[in-house]
Amino acid sequence: MQTQFKTLIYEEELDRIAGWVEEYPDLETGGDLFGFWTHSGAPVVQYVLGPGSGSRHNSASFYQDRDHLIKAGEILRNKHGLQHIGEWHSHHQMGLAEPSGGDSNTVIRALQRYNFPRFLLCIANIRSIAGIIKKWNVNVGCFLYSSHQANYQAGAWVVLPGESPIRSNVKWRNELRGTNSRPSKNWTVDKTTLEEEPLVTTEPIEVSDKLWYSSQQGQSILKDIFDKIQRKFQQCEMFQTNEQRIYLTFESQCKDGYVDRWRVEFPENFPEISPQLHVNNENPFMVKDWSGNYNHFQQIENCIDRHYNQR
Ligand SMILES: [Zn+2]
Repeated sequence: MQTQFKTLIYEEELDRIAGWVEEYPDLETGGDLFGFWTHSGAPVVQYVLGPGSGSRHNSASFYQDRDHLIKAGEILRNKHGLQHIGEWHSHHQMGLAEPSGGDSNTVIRALQRYNFPRFLLCIANIRSIAGIIKKWNVNVGCFLYSSHQANYQAGAWVVLPGESPIRSNVKWRNELRGTNSRPSKNWTVDKTTLEEEPLVTTEPIEVSDKLWYSSQQGQSILKDIFDKIQRKFQQCEMFQTNEQRIYLTFESQCKDGYVDRWRVEFPENFPEISPQLHVNNENPFMVKDWSGNYNHFQQIENCIDRHYNQR
């Protein structure tokens, strides 16, 4: 059992993150987090650095502009005593609200290489609000890695009001120019308060690099299935179990007015092996004559249609 941790951040720093994420709704973007740690090991974010002009944005990776990071790091350390406490990046519309297996491997390698005791990783997701073009919602999650644990903790946010005093100072001095986004209020986070007792999370998540969805191909298969399910059904969400298995849940409106709750679980050796389908917590079933080599969504959809035709 592990206690959930708290990340402290100023409200307007979240506005910055949301603004940067909205600039790249279909690609990863990201940056770095500067601040310090409290007695109990809670990260306090004082300044969020966005992508530099030389950063690279891909659909499944983001590479920060090294010079931009080094220059900002020097100013924030020398003038404000801040440390580089973490990184953030967007999983745009992929629907994966946690670090990927690859993200965890990168952080754990960095902890070892630089001998850091802990590191904060924030993951943003962006969704368009149904029916409203260019109206976005950006969700930001925080995840804490420690050098003595092969897993991360998920945290909640303490949102401090207004602007970070570091940002107002930096702005006034006109330092760190060219990194500004248009701030956006379209964000949501899992909020907590300083007073609230820490919540207890479930079992720790083991990190593995042999996950089918950590490869580029696996990610694009998963994104394709998720997008199409989201288009066809309602309330589609993606989750990761403690064993790092991925599953999707969604709802299907029946003609008689009932709503069926579906769950599609992907086995470790997906797509070679069929996903498991559950409806309303009844006995799970597999997709008949599953083939790993073609249109995965179509096969799942056909299976769901067969289920309704048999009823
Ligand atoms: Zn990632």
